[in-house]
Amino acid sequence: MRTILHSDLNNFYASVELLKHPECKGVPVAVCGNVEDRHGIILAKNQLAKSFGVKTGEVLWEAKKKCKNLVTFPADFSSYIKVSEAVRGIYGRFTDNIESFGIDECWLDVTDSLKIFGSGEEIAQKIRTAIKEEIGVTVSVGVSYNKIFAKLGSDMKKPDAVTVITPNNFKQTVWKLPAEDLLYVGKSTKTKLNSIGVHTIGDIATTDEKVLVGLLGVWGKTLYRFANGFDDTPVAGKKTEESVKSIGNSLTDYKDLYNFEEVKTLILLLSESVASRLRESGLGRATTIKLSVTDNALKTYGKQITIDKPTRTATDIAKIAYKLFYQLYKWERPVRGIGVAVSNFTLGTEQLSIDTDIIKDGKKDRLELAVDGIRKKYGNHSLQRARILQDPRLAETDIIGGHTVNPKTNVCGNDEI
Ligand SMILES: [Mg+2]
Repeated sequence: MRTILHSDLNNFYASVELLKHPECKGVPVAVCGNVEDRHGIILAKNQLAKSFGVKTGEVLWEAKKKCKNLVTFPADFSSYIKVSEAVRGIYGRFTDNIESFGIDECWLDVTDSLKIFGSGEEIAQKIRTAIKEEIGVTVSVGVSYNKIFAKLGSDMKKPDAVTVITPNNFKQTVWKLPAEDLLYVGKSTKTKLNSIGVHTIGDIATTDEKVLVGLLGVWGKTLYRFANGFDDTPVAGKKTEESVKSIGNSLTDYKDLYNFEEVKTLILLLSESVASRLRESGLGRATTIKLSVTDNALKTYGKQITIDKPTRTATDIAKIAYKLFYQLYKWERPVRGIGVAVSNFTLGTEQLSIDTDIIKDGKKDRLELAVDGIRKKYGNHSLQRARILQDPRLAETDIIGGHTVNPKTNVCGNDEI
């Protein structure tokens, strides 16, 4: 049996603003897309603002009507990413098996760490305490034997709490919760489920699987499995024997991707981070390129290819990954996450060749090395590809900085399927 933690930073953006502005402790605080605009959207709020009824996703003037003294701060993603990275550093003391879900949530597979650090619950308490004492923000942690229940657990008690869901207690703890508390059950799925009298997670678990499939297609099967604790999706950061010798990066988006153009941007962003780390590592060039795709039912597909001409440029890696995606993915469901990894490194002497292709490669390589240099000096945002800039949310993400986080702007509960 696995031991999985899901750790969720409480009121994350607002908590970071309070770290930056300690004088605002005890004051209702909200983070807003645009504080100048009264139609700016509330992205996050602290507990006090919440007690006034301020809600994530509402417009500023509505929030101010409920809470006259609401103090607002503009979103400052670079600070949020910094704190998120520091928190990840604490997770890294207990496992290297970490999967980010948005900027403020992570799954940790601590199965192999139990012998060293104690039970899942003990590890969760250690993490909770360390984050609070060393960084000054709080987390809620769910501990369970699969990702879905761990995620539910982190929602059950907050802030600053640990909830354990076991094979023995999940029927009592989880089954009474509304169906929409289950990850990825959004409004439309909820409406369909309600139409056949399914209202709770327990109702899903005890409905004939065939009925759910009739209602929701393959997704019905997935939900049935989730509700019964049969979720065996791995924590994506799991290091296998092979990946120790590979460099990869993956990103779970906060929304579904419906077309290749959107996927392409993500692949390019990841390829840039992988290529840049590869160049930095001094491992040479890669001959194997691997793409993984996770759909919105959390099913992961993978395909890899070994190429004739080893490479370390983002342009090459992305091009090959596009091809792999095209061959691999049949769009049965929208895409949720992408991973790009390279392996099979070689320290070739191909620069000595006069083959024109290789001269061209050499130019690409030097160009990307120059970009590395500029980014190192002026920051990872100093030079960006036009394709990535078109998506301001991705442009904000410092993925090359070594992290798989992305600013999650729809922080209002479960994501719509
Ligand atoms: Mg959170």
